[in-house]
Order: sequence, then C-alpha cells, then structure tokens
Amino acid sequence: MHHNVHVKKAARILVGLECGYSCSYCCNKLPEVKARFKKLKWKDIPATIAQYDIINISGGEPLHPRNYLTTLPLIHAVKSQHKKLFVYTNLSHPDVEYLCPFVDGWNIGYHPSQTTWLDFCKRVNYFLQQDPKGVRVQVEFGQEWQIEKMLLPNTVTIKTWIRNQCFVPNETIYLLEEEE
Ligand code: SF4
Repeated sequence: MHHNVHVKKAARILVGLECGYSCSYCCNKLPEVKARFKKLKWKDIPATIAQYDIINISGGEPLHPRNYLTTLPLIHAVKSQHKKLFVYTNLSHPDVEYLCPFVDGWNIGYHPSQTTWLDFCKRVNYFLQQDPKGVRVQVEFGQEWQIEKMLLPNTVTIKTWIRNQCFVPNETIYLLEEEE
C-alpha cells in the first residue's frame, strides 16, 4: 500500500542550558541525551528551520534572562518561515506572557523541587489568562492526584512523566552555540 501522508518533521532547539535551577532529575544531564546534542550556529538557523514543519524551543529555560535574547530572535526566525512553534518552559519568568501571540503550543514543566503544586497552579492559571494556545502541563505524579488536578482547568492537557525515565522524543536536538 502506498501512503502519501506527510509526516510532520520536528526538531528541538535548545537555546542554552542555563535555567536557574539544578533539578537532580534533569534530562539534560543524562549522557545519552547529551550525546544527541548537535551544535547549531546562528548563521545556519534559517536553513535548519527550513527542513522542519515543527520547531520545539527548549533549554535550559528559554525565558531565563541568560537565554531570553536568544529565544526572541529564534522565535522570529521560526515564525517568519510560518512553522509551528512549541515552547517548553518552567514558567518561572514573568516575561513569558509576552510571547503568547507567537507561540502555537506550550509545554509547561512542573518542578516539584522548586515550587509547590499550589503555587505552580496559581502561576499556570495566571498564564492562562494571557490567552496562550495549546497548553500542556507536564507533571510527575504518583497515583493519587485527582484532587490536585482540580486546581487546573480541564482545558489544560496534563501529561505525566516518571522521574528518572526521561522521555525525549526521537527528534534531532540542536544546541545553539553562543555567539563569539
Ligand atoms: S528546570 Fe528543567 S532544565 Fe532546569 S535543571 Fe530543572 S529539569 Fe533541568
């Protein structure tokens, strides 16, 4: 059988590894994840983006002050080629709200070592008032979390993960090199 379905190609671009946290369970620390990083220079960004349908911007934290001025032009480069853009964030920086009009989907990671679930949900609920599209909250939970879940509206997709079992999708991971 012949399939003509175009499978969307996605790549992940890490704007830097700085995030302000140092979670023990960070996937970026794992040798098998690090081994997948491909270095990317700024001058190669337009041609690289052109090869994909979807760009996931991640880090480190894309909104960390160290990374922010890298994230902004990268978002511009992705959107000027009309690609789908997803941003991964821990929502710890207030400026993230300004990016809502440019981003097609958000993956917000809950970091239990950095904040309580209640504070995190307050932050997510405030963020939702800024009208972001496609919000997915990534959270590590045990079995009993029906009550906790009620703190978020059911328009939010909740995706669970298991600590120390990093799931990094099978896509190319580029690590942006700092400008000389
Ligand atoms: S906030 Fe995210 S990127 Fe930073 S150390 Fe924690 S898991 Fe890693």
